[in-house]
Amino acid sequence: MLSFTFWWMNYVERVVDGLKRRDPAQPEFHQAVGEVFDSLLPVLEERPEYEEAGILERLAEPDRVILFRVTWLDDAGRTRVNRGFRVQATNVLGPYKGGLRFHPTVNLSILKFLGFEQIFKNALTTLPLGAGKGGSDFDPKGKSDAEVMRFCQSFMTELSRHIGPNTDVPAGDIGVGAREIGFLYGQYKRLTNEVTGVLTGKSVGWGGSLIRPEATGYGTVYFASEMLKAAKLSLDGQPCVISGSGNVAQYTCRKLLELGAKPVSMSDSGGTVYDKDGIDEEKLAWIMELKNKRRGRIHEYASEFKCEYREGRLPWDIPCFAAFPSATQNEVDEAGAKSLVANGCRLLAEGANMPCTPEAVEVLRNGNVLYGPGKAANAGGVAVSGLEMSQNAMRLNWRSDEVDSRLASIMNQIHEDAYAASERYGDPGNYVLGANAAGFTRIADAMIDQGVV
Ligand code: NDP
Repeated sequence: MLSFTFWWMNYVERVVDGLKRRDPAQPEFHQAVGEVFDSLLPVLEERPEYEEAGILERLAEPDRVILFRVTWLDDAGRTRVNRGFRVQATNVLGPYKGGLRFHPTVNLSILKFLGFEQIFKNALTTLPLGAGKGGSDFDPKGKSDAEVMRFCQSFMTELSRHIGPNTDVPAGDIGVGAREIGFLYGQYKRLTNEVTGVLTGKSVGWGGSLIRPEATGYGTVYFASEMLKAAKLSLDGQPCVISGSGNVAQYTCRKLLELGAKPVSMSDSGGTVYDKDGIDEEKLAWIMELKNKRRGRIHEYASEFKCEYREGRLPWDIPCFAAFPSATQNEVDEAGAKSLVANGCRLLAEGANMPCTPEAVEVLRNGNVLYGPGKAANAGGVAVSGLEMSQNAMRLNWRSDEVDSRLASIMNQIHEDAYAASERYGDPGNYVLGANAAGFTRIADAMIDQGVV
């Protein structure tokens, strides 16, 4: 398709149009960039120096993209080939920082969108963190531990050339949990003979931080509570729906229980369980055993606890006060958002990255649902990764209550900064505008300070 840049296009339109022409097959990346940059129009109007310095063009072009072959042997002795990636988005604020995703859908568009979102998220934490994202189209599902280990070792053999504790510090994401981080870290040390904090999300026994596994889910609920407090509402006793049943979903569920809410659903790529009686601590422990140890499917919960299983469906048509999408991108579409609004949902906080389509966001905002975008709501994970890096550098371990209270105060600060920016730019309570504007001005000012690089 031919496309031209017209003189009447505004700065944002020209930049997004240029990206589409240059990389036409990257829809998720275009979506993420378009959403963020569109929301920044009032900031760009007030600060023309950002356009003069080409800030948008520079943010939309990663510092570096590394693409490599990962060859490994399966248990039958067959040679397998996957693709490995690391998108180093920007190191303006600190070493590249962001997770690794192992999932068959992984491609450059998805990793560029995730690396791009990470820029603003990491800036919002106010910690010295650059941004990146990486991973592979390898699917750990159905693989033996030995196969996962051989894959991780091969993946790290190449990745190790490009990362380091002061250069790039990856962490986990979908398909990369404690097991994978362990195998990756072991191989990194074998190759470099250095014990450094080169990955975060490590187990506590060998350099990890307490509360890192909990951080994204806990942080999302802390952020949601702040949003509700500002609107004079509370989670107490309220039914909540959660999608996913992995790391983020599990700890979202636990913090909701601690705050007196009533989680009623979880899901995986097979379908959703709807437990009207509520998922309590005991049932959550069962899910954690199912997902983290036995690596089973969520439908087994429905048989165990005699509740409804909705095969192939998402939880958005279940009546709820608050929704916590915690699985993957674009999982809440326009129809899902309409169901949430029709059923009286008052808040949606994104544990996952970009789980709502642009159409869904519009429906939620028009439907008076408080909407917490992922780059603010789920920043707790990377924030505690930043705290893990600090502890590794000091060779100290902080207590769990200490890390948790730092996490809570970072999430409160992110909420305050996002709210203040939304007020400053004329739309109080618009957290999309607020989070984007607060993160963007921090990184843009630093880019100007550091010159044309
Ligand atoms: P996990 O791999 O632990 O869990 C992912 C969950 O989502 C699983 O239940 C999985 O189901 C489901 N899921 C994944 N992909 C799909 C899909 N395409 N369709 C339907 N269900 C899917 O990942 P995390 O919990 O770590 O990550 C979840 C989300 O949170 C991601 O968007 C991630 O980027 C984001 N995030 C994670 C952070 C972290 O610290 N871990 C930090 C910030 C954001 P199944 O097992 O069937 O695939």
